[in-house]
Order: sequence, then structure tokens, then C-alpha cells
Amino acid sequence: MRRLALNFLLILVLFVGIIRAADPECSYCNKTIEGNYLSVDGKSYHEDCYRDHVQPRCAHCGKVIDGKYALLNDEMYHPECYTNHILPRCAICDQPLQGKYYTDYWGNSFHESHSSELSECHTCGRLICDELTGGGYELSDGRYLCGICNETAVTGDFLLESSLSYVLRLLEANGIDNLPDDIPITLVDQQKLRQLSVSYSDAMHGFTDHNTQTRNGHIVSKESHIYILSHLPLTMFRAVLAHELLHVYLFERNLDLRSDIREGFCNLGSEMVYQDTPSEYAEFRLLNMTKSQDPDYGYGYRKMSGLLDQRGWRYLLETLDEIN
Ligand SMILES: [Zn+2]
Ligand SMILES: [Zn+2]
Ligand SMILES: [Zn+2]
Ligand SMILES: [Zn+2]
Ligand SMILES: [Zn+2]
Repeated sequence: MRRLALNFLLILVLFVGIIRAADPECSYCNKTIEGNYLSVDGKSYHEDCYRDHVQPRCAHCGKVIDGKYALLNDEMYHPECYTNHILPRCAICDQPLQGKYYTDYWGNSFHESHSSELSECHTCGRLICDELTGGGYELSDGRYLCGICNETAVTGDFLLESSLSYVLRLLEANGIDNLPDDIPITLVDQQKLRQLSVSYSDAMHGFTDHNTQTRNGHIVSKESHIYILSHLPLTMFRAVLAHELLHVYLFERNLDLRSDIREGFCNLGSEMVYQDTPSEYAEFRLLNMTKSQDPDYGYGYRKMSGLLDQRGWRYLLETLDEIN
């Protein structure tokens, strides 16, 4: 979340003096002034000339300003006009945003205080409330899901099969083929994921369990089981599935890579899905990976992504075990 501070309002009091002197010239109409005149910033004016032509007016209500004012882009405003009509409003409580405020990735600006009162959606980062997300709810494992992400959340078996065939096709198009198409996929909560993985990290949204059957020292079968966090929006679910399928790819080829290269490589699957289904949400998730400080999911990913950009999939797949 970006933290924004509004430019401090420039407050200036005009000095208006009424002085008696001999025949000065009006700085507005250039005629001689007889009698009272106004002196403002070292210039003299007929009272009428000053009021009708020189005195600043509020860019909102058009009425004259003769005291404090706020200045924005060279326009002057009455302080009340500025506060009530010019200042941006909070997307949550609709009150003017004075002082420091936050703007989230989605362009919602709101008072700092709301971020401590409301819960953040675990997949999009929006603050969960009626105004921003149409509500939302807490999952049994403590994650929060907003109303927007909930619309496509994968919660049952319904989308698993179509997602698997979509991702397999996408990977295949980039030369990642011969993956088994009958890999079991199970949706789990965060606690279960933590139990499954010895190297659990918050950047993890799935886990793949590998199993090798041997007989007399020979491999007779290799099996994988994919576990993915439940309630992920469909786009993210597919991105996580692609990540896990790349683990299957490595397992099938007996490629035992260092963790940053392994997770970085598998995140290229997520990247592929996000690039294949462009949306604001996909961009947000990609940005998350691009900015992640995690040594494997962040740094490892950027290393592998850079390599992919330079050399392409074919080179990458052929030289995976030589990368360090
Ligand atoms: Zn004049
Ligand atoms: Zn005004
Ligand atoms: Zn507010
Ligand atoms: Zn959300
Ligand atoms: Zn992984």
C-alpha cells in the first residue's frame, strides 16, 4: 500500500491597507486615484477596481477571497470550499482526505485509520468492507477473502479438471510436455499446507507430494499428489497449479535443484498463466512475485525469469541442472 501525504495547504493572509496619500495611480486602470485607495503588495488600486478585477476569487464558488486560502495548481480556494469540494474523498467513509492517507494497488484512497480497523483480503490486498469489496469473510484457517475474489474462488472439485487441462496445454505449448494428466489435486487450508511442507513459507500456496515406488532397487512408478490452498481466485489457482506441475516436471526428470532455482523455475509456470490471462488481478499477482523478498519465490523467480527472457524455454529446460 502506498502512503500519500497531501501537500500542505498554503495559507496566506492578504495585507490590505487603506492609506491616504496624494494622487497615486491605480495599478489596474492606470487612472489617478483621488481619495481612499487600497495598497496591496506594494500596488495601489481604486477600491472598485480592486474588488471587481484584482481581488482573488475562489476557483470553486467564484466568490472573493479576503482571508486565508488554499492553493492548488495555481488556483485559490476558500479553505471550506477546498476541504469539502476539492480534496479527494475517502473511498470507505466518504469524508475528505486530509493529511496522510493510503492508496491501494486498485486506486482506492482511504484514511490511514481504516487499515487497522479492517482486514485485508489475502489474495488481492483490498481492505474488506462493503464500500471496496462488497463485503467478504474470514476462512476457518484465519485467512480473509473479499467479495470480489470470492466471485471466482475455487472451493470444490468443479474447476479442477478444466484447470488441469488448461494448464497442461499451456505448459505443453512451451515445450513442457509428457506430464501425467491424471495427477490428483486436493484443496487444503493453510494449516494442512503447513503440515505437508517442511519448508513452509507464506509465499507458498500449494505443495506437491512426490512418491517413488522401487522394486529391487529399480524405480517401478513415480507418483505426485498436488495440494493447493482452497478459496484462491481461479486465475491464481491456475497459476499455483502451473507452479506445482513444474515440480512434477522436475520430479519426473529426477532434477534435484537448489531451492531458489527450483522455486524460481516453478514460479515461471505461474508467470506463464498470468501472462496468458491478462487482467488487473493477474498484473497484481505478477507484481507481487516481482517484488517478493523471499529468497526462493522472489529472488529465485527473478533470476529464472531473467534467464528465460534472455534464452527462452528450450534453452532453460535443456540446461536446468547446470544453472547455479
Ligand atoms: Zn482603477
Ligand atoms: Zn469558495
Ligand atoms: Zn475514511
Ligand atoms: Zn480480494
Ligand atoms: Zn514450489
